[in-house]
Order: sequence, then structure tokens, then C-alpha cells
Amino acid sequence: MSEREEALLGLAEAIADLHHPVKVEASEWARERLSRHDLVEADRNSVFAIDDWRRCAERGWLGLFVPTELGGSGADLATSLLTLEGIGHGTRDGGLVYALGSQLLSTQVALVRFGSREQQRRRLPGLLDGSTFGAFAITEADGGSDAFAMSATATRTADGTYRINGHKSLITFGPVCDFCIVFASTRPDAGSWGVTAFIVDADADGVRRGPLREKMGMRTTPFGDLFFDDVEVGEDAVLGREGAGARIFGSVIDVERSYVFAPQVGAMERQLDETIMFATSRTSGGRPIGDYQAVSHRIVSMKERHERARLFLYRAALAEATGQPTALTASLAKIVGCDTGIESALDASLIHGARGYVSEFEVERTIRDSLAGLTFSGSTDVLRNVVARLLGVG
Ligand SMILES: Cc1cc2nc3c(=O)[nH]c(=O)nc-3n(C[C@H](O)[C@H](O)[C@H](O)COP(=O)(O)OP(=O)(O)OC[C@H]3O[C@@H](n4cnc5c(N)ncnc54)[C@H](O)[C@@H]3O)c2cc1C
Repeated sequence: MSEREEALLGLAEAIADLHHPVKVEASEWARERLSRHDLVEADRNSVFAIDDWRRCAERGWLGLFVPTELGGSGADLATSLLTLEGIGHGTRDGGLVYALGSQLLSTQVALVRFGSREQQRRRLPGLLDGSTFGAFAITEADGGSDAFAMSATATRTADGTYRINGHKSLITFGPVCDFCIVFASTRPDAGSWGVTAFIVDADADGVRRGPLREKMGMRTTPFGDLFFDDVEVGEDAVLGREGAGARIFGSVIDVERSYVFAPQVGAMERQLDETIMFATSRTSGGRPIGDYQAVSHRIVSMKERHERARLFLYRAALAEATGQPTALTASLAKIVGCDTGIESALDASLIHGARGYVSEFEVERTIRDSLAGLTFSGSTDVLRNVVARLLGVG
């Protein structure tokens, strides 16, 4: 069987088997070994679970998307996605799994796809063993969705180095990163064609990591701003080549949009199972509340949304595995993953009554966590624009 046929078979098995052993094993491991602390407290105080992160590293999960020759686990796409689904199913720490997705699917993918051997040799080992964090920094306070209307600049000096100036905003791992991949304009007159990606150490002269910024959900993911004030870097800091920033961003963002909701798909399944258990044990008027159609139909919708999000996730994977263009499937996977996650979290909250609103029962947090998906990796509005364009409208 060819490598491609094996990949397709693996994905088909992943789609068909809701209880695939890879997923079940990852879920059980995550349930037993992660999130042993008080998650309500961690959420309240925005505390990142560094010990859990290191446990994920020891398990090889931080190397899921990295080939073995670069030190990763070299897992195929189906195994990687099933593992992420299992992790999301096994732990309730939405911030941890978002951080995992962000690190694996943006910083690492950029290094694997575009890094020089030297950049990979220097940066990947720490990311894989959990001793360092990388940030992927494109957003600016005034740019946002219009990512390439950026004011950060990297000016070439007479001796061949670059001086980077600018401010990147709302960056996952920003306040704690050891290095970042930062996008800056090397030719402001050339628009997106003049953007270059640089790998910059966070302790380099002129780099400042801002404080943690508090947010509504996924509060356990570290998040904040990065400032660059006359930061001097050599040519060896350029990722890919000068002017390739837009291509790098386009390639990486499709991967992130395709798979960032893989853990959430697992989390939706857990929420569905727990909501069914609640609906069959909680009584009202002498009957389990699940007997009432208003409740059972909400549960049916949760089931349908979970399956839909899963199918769009693996549809995106099939596009990658068969070498098709990924912009459409990636955008749809993210739109569907986000919308279904929010709607099901709301339904779960309603079915749990006041328990769905009070923090200690850990249902309300899933609503707050799921809302972030409307914005990160391209807002849902912007992704709808992408899909409309690909359909020849809009
Ligand atoms: C949890 C989280 C993690 C993040 N992590 C990172 C990270 O690691 N690295 C990074 O670089 N950035 C990161 N971001 C930033 C994120 O990419 C931006 O927030 C996003 O691009 C939107 O930009 P904005 O917030 O400035 O909103 P704006 O672009 O100002 O948008 C405001 C509103 O206008 C709408 N809108 C804007 N333009 C259009 C348009 N063309 N068509 C239709 N509607 C439009 C939007 O949908 C939104 O509703 C993160 C954000 C969040 C919430």
C-alpha cells in the first residue's frame, strides 16, 4: 500500500470509529494524568498548567506534527488528530488544549515547513521537550483581521542586519515565550509581498514581553503583547526568505484553521455524554428531565453538532492528505467547529439549569472558552468572506 493510500485508510478509520483506540487511549491518559488541580481556581486566576504541559511533552504529544528526523513523534495525520480529540475529551482545561493546538499548529508547523536546518536544530528541541515556548506574532492593535496592513517594520542596515520595530498584540504565549516568529514589513510599498517572518529571541535587546492580558475564556492560556524597539537580528533570523511572510502565513494558517478544533471536537463529545447522564438522572415532575422533548431534542442537536464538527475536521484532513487546496476546507472546519461548540455549550448549560451557570459545575466555562473561536485564527466573518470568494461571490 502506498503512503497516500495508508493515510487515506487511517483517516477513513478515524472517521468511522467514534471509539478509535488511539483516541480512547489519549483520553484515558489525559483524564488520569492531566488537570489534577482545581481548574475553577486556575481559570479564575488565569494560571497556565505548566506541569501538565511538561507531561504532554513526556508523552510525546508536543511532537505530534513533527517528523521523526526532526525529533518529533512523526505520527500520521489520523493519529495526530485522534490524539488531539482524545486529549480534548480527557481534560477539561480548554486553555491548555488551545495552547497545545496553537503551539503545534502555528509555531512548529512554520519551523518544520520553512525553517532552515539550523533554525530547526536550534528551536525545535526545546519546543518538543516543553522547556521553551514559541509565539507566532502577526496581529497588531490597529491591524487585526487586516493582518498585512501592518506597521511593524524590519529595516535592512548597511552591514546586512535588520532592525525590527513594532508592537504585536493579542499573542498566545506572548508574555512567556522564549522566542517568537514575528512578521514585519521589509518593503512597506509592496504590501503583503513585502512582509518577512523573523525568528527573534525574547531576551534580545529591544524585545519586551508585555504582562498577561486577562480574557473572557481560555483564561489558562498565557496571552499578551510583544514590543520590538530597534531589535537587531542577522540574516539567519529570516524564516524562509525575505518577502515570503505572506506565503508562510497562508500555509500555516490553513493548518491551524483545519485542526485547531480537534481537541474541542473531543470536548464536545464529553459534554454530550455528561449532559445525557445528567438528563437521565435529574428528575422533575417525577420523571427524568430527558423524558421531556425540549431537553431530549437539545441533546439530539448536540449529537448532530458533534458529528458535524468531526466530519468537517476530517474533511479538512482528507484535503491535505490528497493534495487538494486547503483554504475552503480549512475555513469551513473552523467555522463549523466554532459555531457547533458555542451552540452545544449553550444547550449543555440550559439543560444543567443553574448548575450550567454556576462556576463550580464547570459548564459555564465551556461557553466562555468556546466564544474565543469566533475571533482567533481569522474571525468567523472573515472566514465567511474567504469561502464566499472561493465560491465566486462576495
Ligand atoms: C484567544 C486568542 C488568541 C490569539 N492568538 C494570536 C496569536 O497567537 N498570534 C496572533 O498574531 N494573533 C492572535 N490573536 C489575534 C487574532 O488573530 C485577532 O484578534 C483577529 O485577527 C481579529 O482581529 P481584531 O481582534 O483586531 O478584530 P478586528 O479585525 O478589528 O475585527 C472586529 C470585527 O470586525 C469584523 N471584521 C473585520 N474585518 C472584516 C471583514 N473584512 N469582513 C467582515 N467582517 C470583518 C470582525 O469579524 C470582527 O467582528 C488571538 C486572538 C484571540 C482572541
